Amino acid sequence: MDPQLLEEFDSFEQSFKNISNRFRLVSKIGEGTFSSVYKAEDMEYDVFDNSWDLDRSPDGKRPLAMVDASCPIAKRPKTCASRWKKYVAIKRIYVTSSPQRILNELVLLHTLSRCDSIAPLITAFRSQDQVVAILPYCKHADYRAFYRQLPLSEFKYYMKSLVTALENVHLHGILHRDVKPTNFLYDPEKRRGVLVDFGLAERESLDPSYCSCRGYGENNRTRHITDRQPTGGYLKNDPRPGRRANRAGTRGFRAPEVLLKCLNQTTKIDMWSAGVILLSFMSKRFPFFNSADDIDATIEIASIFGKSKISSCARLHGSMFDTNIPTVPDRGLKLEEIVDWAVSGTDVDDETETPTQSRIDEDPEKELAFDFLTKCLEVDFRKRMSAEQALRHSFLAGI
Ligand code: ADP
Ligand code: MG
Repeated sequence: MDPQLLEEFDSFEQSFKNISNRFRLVSKIGEGTFSSVYKAEDMEYDVFDNSWDLDRSPDGKRPLAMVDASCPIAKRPKTCASRWKKYVAIKRIYVTSSPQRILNELVLLHTLSRCDSIAPLITAFRSQDQVVAILPYCKHADYRAFYRQLPLSEFKYYMKSLVTALENVHLHGILHRDVKPTNFLYDPEKRRGVLVDFGLAERESLDPSYCSCRGYGENNRTRHITDRQPTGGYLKNDPRPGRRANRAGTRGFRAPEVLLKCLNQTTKIDMWSAGVILLSFMSKRFPFFNSADDIDATIEIASIFGKSKISSCARLHGSMFDTNIPTVPDRGLKLEEIVDWAVSGTDVDDETETPTQSRIDEDPEKELAFDFLTKCLEVDFRKRMSAEQALRHSFLAGI
């Protein structure tokens, strides 16, 4: 084994003295921004059975009988034959994370433990400042390894599984905030995915003072400054206090309202991120958006949806958006054109040709996919499709 990994295992076992009585560390499976994740064998595996996280037996058959996932862990029947191994993922949260943040992740994971397409929290341990969460090990493939290969008819299952998970999260009034391929562990063979990483998740705010996006910027002081706003160009030495809004998430996946520092962020931010994943699949480009900061990200979005749409979206959130970058069009482009441009290099400005439309007309499934995509990537969150509506959309319904 890699000596560095051995060292990590050693330090891990020193912090959690008796952990090796129950878990045998096998390998490191992930290193995210906030944690290291290890695969381990659970020696008490038969207590909490789940059907999807089992490695196959040597003969390739499923080792266990299916067990009702809604059955409380303590009451689940013991169905494992002792020769089968059960694997878990041990998420060791970095000590730099605040206790509040760690508690939040564990509480939300626990709340969602019995939901379809969400990795349930099995248990958690703390040793001084170190915390580990134990989740079922979810066999999955790297998104980058399959997104160019899978046909749309198969990718529908990815989207269905992701939106099912989101519907569950949203029904609990929770925003995941960090929907992206590395947080959705998908197994193309089983056509099943599991949503992980609730490290940035939060409960939807029901604070009535947050209800108006426009509340900010409507005081006299701001209005006065807005009146003096030069036409074109930025205000220098702007005396207004900066607005503080939660912008947690991953660049490239943030919804416009997050970029525009909206104070009233809703579960719809996750649907935008789901749309970005679908856009990356359709265009065969990952990551699709690749900006360094929020200003660039807003320009990227404006380059697709047009200056006027982003300006009215900014107004909706009490901000102002303007740019004199010549490549940002006034009116937006169709997502079909963007995808065509990305896939085949067709010039989006060439008005003499309409190859996109004719190609889509020939493929009803693609047409549905674009309709679905357009409804996920709606810049006005009020008009954006919810997870519940997405599951009823003809693109996903019936699979
Ligand atoms: P972070 O908060 O550090 O991003 P994540 O929870 O996203 O941590 O985990 C990081 C990585 O570890 C994931 O991208 C995935 O590759 C792997 N991982 C996390 N949970 C599991 C799991 N239950 N089963 C298999 N792999 C997992
Ligand atoms: Mg992650």
